[in-house]
Amino acid sequence: MFAKEIIELKRPTFSFEIFPPKSGGNLESIYETVDALASLMPDFISVTYGAGGSNRENTVEIASVIQNKYNIPTLAHLTCVGSSKDQMDSILKELDEKGVKNILALRGDLGETSVLGDFKYASDLISYIKSNYDFNIVSACYPEKHLEAYSVIEDLKYLKSKVDNGTDMLVSQLFFDNQVFYNFAQKARLIGIDTPIVAGIMPITSSRQIERMVSLCGATVPEPVQRFIKAYGHNGMAIKEAGIAYATQQIIDLLASGVDGIHLYTMNQADTAKRIAENLRGILYSLRVKRD
Ligand code: FAD
Repeated sequence: MFAKEIIELKRPTFSFEIFPPKSGGNLESIYETVDALASLMPDFISVTYGAGGSNRENTVEIASVIQNKYNIPTLAHLTCVGSSKDQMDSILKELDEKGVKNILALRGDLGETSVLGDFKYASDLISYIKSNYDFNIVSACYPEKHLEAYSVIEDLKYLKSKVDNGTDMLVSQLFFDNQVFYNFAQKARLIGIDTPIVAGIMPITSSRQIERMVSLCGATVPEPVQRFIKAYGHNGMAIKEAGIAYATQQIIDLLASGVDGIHLYTMNQADTAKRIAENLRGILYSLRVKRD
């Protein structure tokens, strides 16, 4: 199913992100995760591409299994930095043949050794895919701006070009302060971005994980979150419980505010996703019954 149809039929959507194992890792463990996540009946599952050292080749394979064996709509991430059109074509053709309908079209992070390929920005990849293929396009957006961007306004201007070039849905970078997301969404609407904006939520499960993610994406950590990290950070079980409770609370507020969807960054931890899905079951059910 295309992203546009998913949003139309299921809004507010509830979906998961997973990442392929690192090179040399086996695929068995990821399929156990997919199995557990599939039982939670997500509206779609996205599979990252090369993020955090994960194996790129496996993205196509895992996306295809989710789409064809589990019959769950799949969103395959794809980064273009340093890639040629031929390289992108080969992956896009494979995804098309496997019945994957949705691409999260990204530039990717610039490393110190990054060489420019045929695409400079995500918006170039988006135009290319739209002109040559029949995929729905999802793009990334950054409620606290992308790290390289000079200002939120400048970042929004470039986000508008991604939308104008054919983006069908946006998924946000993780954030811990809902007000930041609401301010961003309001500005986006004001400049004419009218595509659905799905909120990316990452449950905090350890102090190390949160330190790493914050240093990678620059998300602001509000005081209440800093307090529970400080209080429970040394206790694996306590911090995970606090993280699940905080993410649940964030999502309840977003749903109450009419968000288009929630994309849970699972970090391949199906048990955490399951706890959150169970906390939300009644709310998601009632929203859907009301809509139907
Ligand atoms: P772009 O939209 O191209 O923007 C990059 C920067 O360039 C921004 O600062 C923007 O303001 C600026 N810019 C854009 N257009 C122009 C222009 N025309 N002129 C001047 N400046 C411009 N990374 C992975 O490696 N694999 C993944 O699977 C992955 N999944 C992700 C999923 C989500 C939901 C998100 C939010 C991020 C993900 N990332 C992933 C990280 C992403 O690749 C990085 O954040 C990357 O640095 C930017 O990618 P982008 O597509 O947002 O880039």
